[in-house]
Amino acid sequence: MSKLKLHHWILIAMVLGAGIGLPMNIAAERGALDPASVQDIAHLGEELGGLFLSLLKMIVVPLIITSLVTGVTGLGDPRKLGRLGARTFGYYMLTSALAIVVGIVVVNLIRPGVGIELDALTADATAPAVVGDAETSLGAILWNQLKGMIPTNPVHATAEGDMLPVIFFSLLFGLFVSITGGEHGDRMRSFFESAFAVMMRMTMFIVSLAPFGVFGFMLFAAAGSGLAAFAALGKYMVTVAVGLAIHAFVTLPLLLAFLARRSPLEFAKAMGPALLTAFSTASSNATLPLTMTNVEERAGVSNQVSSFVLPLGATVNMDGTALYEAVAVLFIAQAYGMDLTLAQQIIVAVTALLASVGAAGIPHAGTVMMVVVLDAVGLPGEAVGLILAVDRVLDMCRTTVNVWSDATAAAVVARFEPVSARAEAD
Ligand code: ASP
Repeated sequence: MSKLKLHHWILIAMVLGAGIGLPMNIAAERGALDPASVQDIAHLGEELGGLFLSLLKMIVVPLIITSLVTGVTGLGDPRKLGRLGARTFGYYMLTSALAIVVGIVVVNLIRPGVGIELDALTADATAPAVVGDAETSLGAILWNQLKGMIPTNPVHATAEGDMLPVIFFSLLFGLFVSITGGEHGDRMRSFFESAFAVMMRMTMFIVSLAPFGVFGFMLFAAAGSGLAAFAALGKYMVTVAVGLAIHAFVTLPLLLAFLARRSPLEFAKAMGPALLTAFSTASSNATLPLTMTNVEERAGVSNQVSSFVLPLGATVNMDGTALYEAVAVLFIAQAYGMDLTLAQQIIVAVTALLASVGAAGIPHAGTVMMVVVLDAVGLPGEAVGLILAVDRVLDMCRTTVNVWSDATAAAVVARFEPVSARAEAD
């Protein structure tokens, strides 16, 4: 990969995957190719992408642990952690709320669900089995999430890759490395610093394999999904896309320019590999290693800030998902001929925000959580089946916005977070 940079290769891989997969899918629909063999090729693509995904997942937990402990001990003063936490969380909720407002305005203007033929859609949709095990009470979900943050067994949480408990334990551990101080504290700190340095090198190596994984996933997405579904749900997809575009190209860049005082274009360029990977994997969690390396090494945000803001963001900050939840639920309501009142739309907004916090950073997590939002305004959970056919593509788009929002948050928080004396001395 000499002259071309990683994000160029990722882009080439995307175009190649789509360029090979799409004609195949069309040919299969027209009977020129055997649909079963096209599905086989789509499956091969999925397997190739899956290998890359496994490598990324392999490093996520050790990367988070070493990075967070190093970041927190680097903060020096434990009180700084409280301030950093409050600012980060507050900012995350603000951007998600802005995204939802944009989504609600757009869906009310375009009204994609009005006059839609429900029968045509249900015939197309796969049975909504994926939503079967979703919990339907919002309070229960949030309480469980809060309760689940405290791992009863940190080793188990680590083994399961449960992000929030791992984050919680690593934060506490880092904090107590600082509080312990002295010979023991120093030894621990330098151990984690070394482990983190090794993890970063390993991450960079795995990340350089991204073009292969991206090619696989694009081939899978393009060859595997039928175009017919896209036609029926076209207006709905456009509505989600317009909303996401406004948030990604207007709202977040404005926050970046005015709050972080950074050039949005340059920042976006620095985040290129992470954004492209988010798009093709549809997983904020799997993209996290790239998000962290891009934010730190290409965008110059300190590790103290990024190691805290980004892992938390991958789990709780999902602007794209929040926007999509609101649009999708209002679309479904329109399709059912239900006119939601302003009060009901506010309920949708609030539950969409909470659902986006509760959704995990994995493919289709937002769709699973949507049952909760539907339930809040009395729509049946099965209605999710209407939009499943096009969910992968929209998931790719909203995950990109999720990661873009996490990255911009790191820049905004970093601007207001003076680098600690220790980091300056380094
Ligand atoms: N796939 C999204 C993410 O990982 C979550 C979602 O389904 O909306 O960020």
